[in-house]
Amino acid sequence: MNCSFSPLRGRLAPSPTGALHLGNARTFMIAWLRVRAAGGTLVLRMEDLDHPKNKPGAAQAALEELRWLGFDWDEGPDVGGPCAPYTQTERKAHYAQALAQLQQQGLVYPCICTRRDVETGQSAPHAEDGLYYGGVCRDRFASYEEAAQQLPAGRLPAWRFRCKEGDASRVSFIDLCAGLYEQDVSQAVGDFVLARDPHGAGYMLAVVIDDAAMGITEVVRGDDLLPATPRQLLLYQALGLTPPAFLHVPLVVSEDGRRLAKRHGDTRLCALRDAGNTPEKIIGLLAWWCGWAAWGECLSLHDLLPRFDLATLPRTPAVLTPAVKDYLHCT
Ligand code: GLU
Repeated sequence: MNCSFSPLRGRLAPSPTGALHLGNARTFMIAWLRVRAAGGTLVLRMEDLDHPKNKPGAAQAALEELRWLGFDWDEGPDVGGPCAPYTQTERKAHYAQALAQLQQQGLVYPCICTRRDVETGQSAPHAEDGLYYGGVCRDRFASYEEAAQQLPAGRLPAWRFRCKEGDASRVSFIDLCAGLYEQDVSQAVGDFVLARDPHGAGYMLAVVIDDAAMGITEVVRGDDLLPATPRQLLLYQALGLTPPAFLHVPLVVSEDGRRLAKRHGDTRLCALRDAGNTPEKIIGLLAWWCGWAAWGECLSLHDLLPRFDLATLPRTPAVLTPAVKDYLHCT
């Protein structure tokens, strides 16, 4: 069942795989401003499917830190709403139903390859988005059970999406920030994993099912997910769902241009709070990165609303310079 809504519905989708940092906060700030400036509805969805990487207490801490920074949302795990539940591990029945639909359409197949098999099968490096799968298990097994029999006890086949050849796998869309983006999914990544076992959907399927079921009309997220979007668009199409608009924003990076890591300094929101920074100081800095505030200005999210302008958002990454680290007493 899909809820249908208007006008704009956006979402914040934290994963409890670690503590929220400045980069997450900047992306969420833009997502919040987009929805609030348009008088829309903001959904918070907890993306906790990635069990082995989840940190205990991280989901609760994320909600608390976002509230501390001044964020609010209209629907979510802690406030409820018409599309509940808002936590992915409680939504597995939806993913199973979608997988069953794709099975009936012959659009998925069981795969017994390990990550290692896939790595060794790579003929050329596919820089864009990790591993390319050449389709070794495509048309290899008559059934899931037959595939499972090939595996030692304790291991289960995954389900992969069967990319069509030719134009059917060529996706192009206009991202509201990044502009035209094109990818031939069958060339760039090949048949991709939807579920690691028959009971567990992965991110790619879950995010599509949830955004559609929650009536999300615009997805704002980091541009590290730009290369994953064509796969998601193929899924929308296969499942007969309407895709949202996408707005991928540049990440916060270190001075060497890399993704933020511990060695670049402790930019976790909890650490910045412990170091004595106020929410207004942090929001002011995030806004300065976006070109909407002067250096050193302290602002609330609401103060920023009249200044918010997507047109002036830099299309290049924000950089964690020594000056920013000093300013935030970032260790
Ligand atoms: N939960 C994902 C993350 O924290 C975001 C997924 C998405 O926005 O589609 O990286």
